[in-house]
Amino acid sequence: MFTLAIVGRPNVGKSTLFNRLVGKRLALVDDQPGVTRDLREGAARLGDLKFTVIDTAGLEEATDDSLQGRMRRLTERAVDMADAALFVIDARMGVTPSDQIFADILRRKGHPVLLAANKAEGRAGEAGMFEAYGLGLGDVIGLSAEHGEGMADLAAALRPLI
Ligand code: GDP
Ligand code: MG
Repeated sequence: MFTLAIVGRPNVGKSTLFNRLVGKRLALVDDQPGVTRDLREGAARLGDLKFTVIDTAGLEEATDDSLQGRMRRLTERAVDMADAALFVIDARMGVTPSDQIFADILRRKGHPVLLAANKAEGRAGEAGMFEAYGLGLGDVIGLSAEHGEGMADLAAALRPLI
């Protein structure tokens, strides 16, 4: 089964997107101790596409000095388990230094990466979406995980990879 890892810094809407894709079809990742609780895996449906999706969680509690290392380890772990990564930024915040770190990790990994700017409902996300092109990771998919917008664009970007 094609597996997509949703990655990005805390609070960009990864879990909201995960929940939208998975609904109630949630399973826990049975994996390495200690990492398990920080990764959630579920059976995703997006239109006619079916795939496995991984949510990276557990970073929200980290202190500033432990965040970067944990982010890196967890992200690398999720990406290693996946066929592709969906890198999510917050369109309302624009690209942050933390987002740049994620972009570097993902570039180094060499896996296929889709880039999404979430919270893009309304006009408040327009500048952030534009900024996201500067990450050099290709096209930016505008999403609103909370309102279910951009899902057809996400499906169109995913389809050639699956
Ligand atoms: P995570 O830490 O990346 O998993 O982010 P969460 O999914 O927990 O979401 C963080 C916050 O952003 C929550 O308050 C969500 O309700 C909010 N959020 C998620 N998606 C959207 C969206 O599309 N638009 C807006 N405006 N808020 C969102
Ligand atoms: Mg989360």
